[in-house]
Amino acid sequence: MRDLSRREVLKATAAVGAGAAVFPGIVAAGTPGLAADGGPGPSSTAESPPAELTGRIVRPQDPGYANASLGWDELFVRYPLVIVFAQNTQDVVNALTWARQNDVALRVRSGRHSLEGWSNVDNGIVIDVSELKSTHIDYASRTARVGAGLNQLEAVTALGEHDLAVTTGTEGSVGLSGATLGGGLGFLTRYLGMACDSLIGAEIVVAWGSNGAKAIEVDLHNHEDLLWALRGAGNGNFGIVTSLTYRATPLRSVAYVQATWDNLGDLEEIFDTWQRIAPFTDYRLGTQVEIHKSAILLFAVLADGPEAEARELLEPILSIGNPEVTVQTGGWGEIYNGFQIPTEDEPANWKFFSQFSNQPFPKKAIGVVRAFMEDAPTDDSNFFLQAFGRGKQAHEPRGGSAFPHRDALFYSEPGVGWGTRGEPDSGDALTPVAQTWIAEFSQALRPYVDGAYVNVPNIGMAEWESAYWGSNFYRLRKIKAKYDPHNVFQYEQSIPPATC
Ligand SMILES: Cc1cc2nc3c(=O)[nH]c(=O)nc-3n(C[C@H](O)[C@H](O)[C@H](O)COP(=O)(O)OP(=O)(O)OC[C@H]3O[C@@H](n4cnc5c(N)ncnc54)[C@H](O)[C@@H]3O)c2cc1C
Repeated sequence: MRDLSRREVLKATAAVGAGAAVFPGIVAAGTPGLAADGGPGPSSTAESPPAELTGRIVRPQDPGYANASLGWDELFVRYPLVIVFAQNTQDVVNALTWARQNDVALRVRSGRHSLEGWSNVDNGIVIDVSELKSTHIDYASRTARVGAGLNQLEAVTALGEHDLAVTTGTEGSVGLSGATLGGGLGFLTRYLGMACDSLIGAEIVVAWGSNGAKAIEVDLHNHEDLLWALRGAGNGNFGIVTSLTYRATPLRSVAYVQATWDNLGDLEEIFDTWQRIAPFTDYRLGTQVEIHKSAILLFAVLADGPEAEARELLEPILSIGNPEVTVQTGGWGEIYNGFQIPTEDEPANWKFFSQFSNQPFPKKAIGVVRAFMEDAPTDDSNFFLQAFGRGKQAHEPRGGSAFPHRDALFYSEPGVGWGTRGEPDSGDALTPVAQTWIAEFSQALRPYVDGAYVNVPNIGMAEWESAYWGSNFYRLRKIKAKYDPHNVFQYEQSIPPATC
């Protein structure tokens, strides 16, 4: 790992020293006395008193700094000035105010799975909410209010204990916040909609006045425009979400099917059959396909249905060739726990490109997939598909959402993983090979896809704004101008405020 230069350390220490002492109990720097919708608001010139950093604070000279900074994707190594692990909302208010008053770049972080390293920043402050782990789940009202620091495994497990579920992605270590605020797709997407569709409220710390911060509650009746924006465009754009409230759905058991074909011999037939069936079948069935260099995997979850029904629905695909098939039934929390892969067993570096498709892939596009997968640079490369189509995600939730891809038949993603964990910045010779392969692969598929997924950002893509949000981008810019007119929350592909 590259060391911080002496100059950088001195600069970092000097700046952090100005406000880094932990004074538990020091009260906030937010602008006092403002009602949620009243008072001067985010664009006023009202000034806040000087802020101090509070919470668990890690600086470059502290032991554990490297681990506190490193993200899941070790391709991106950053050297922040200070990392604040908030212990409560006030710590977040203080951190944001401090960043504004000291003119320090800031990033928001939860589960550290940003696929471009955008939840961290050199010489800036990382406001990390991962230690906000509260859970309040009420079966009677079917609501769950949880801290923004839960990861997906913790959320699925906590809800599962109450026989409740919301959609999440498949990898448990991904932050619930990051996944939900960008959309959130997984096995339950067709049954329950996107994760963000179940989001009915949030507490969020926004920039307030000329140099302060304030926590506000958003729901379907308060700041409903901001709730709309958080449903698919909330990652690092409008403020720091500290808690999320979901409408959860009872889910007692699922049937989980896994099928493996040992080589790519049946690729064309499997792909074409899957894309003509999976988006149109019973909305309780969610399926994912992974095409690897020398195997094809199908994963399916039938919500509230028995094994026999899952096999019957999947029969047109399972009858191709000679796959090895296993089926498990059980509670969703238990099944979800069972298919997790420990992070230490995964490659260090990753790159994915995201794409939605509103039409089935023609033969030529499936041929592109075969050609690139046969030539994949590592065994951890794959082409991933997730069925959408006639499911609950095709309909907007009450109050609408910034997530636009309601007409998609399926989502897909070429991906490549390489390198050994614990050796970031090691100059792995595979890096340029992997990056070239995936850039060319995604480029070759461009004629067949419609839009991209903000949670799996496509760096270097022209018109990423419309690819992620379609025509919603204009409204997002207006909401940004209302809640973050000074553009405090910005990064490589953040939403700029509307200018008038
Ligand atoms: C291995 C892997 C598997 C994945 N699988 C899926 C999947 O199955 N389905 C799916 O939908 N997505 C999936 N994703 C994409 C995933 O949803 C995004 O990477 C997500 O943004 C990660 O969130 P995080 O909190 O872990 O990451 P972080 O790096 O902490 O944050 C990601 C982004 O969200 C912002 N952010 C985080 N917390 C907050 C907050 N509290 N308030 C405001 N902004 C915040 C950050 O600033 C950053 O821009 C996967 C990603 C990986 C790496």
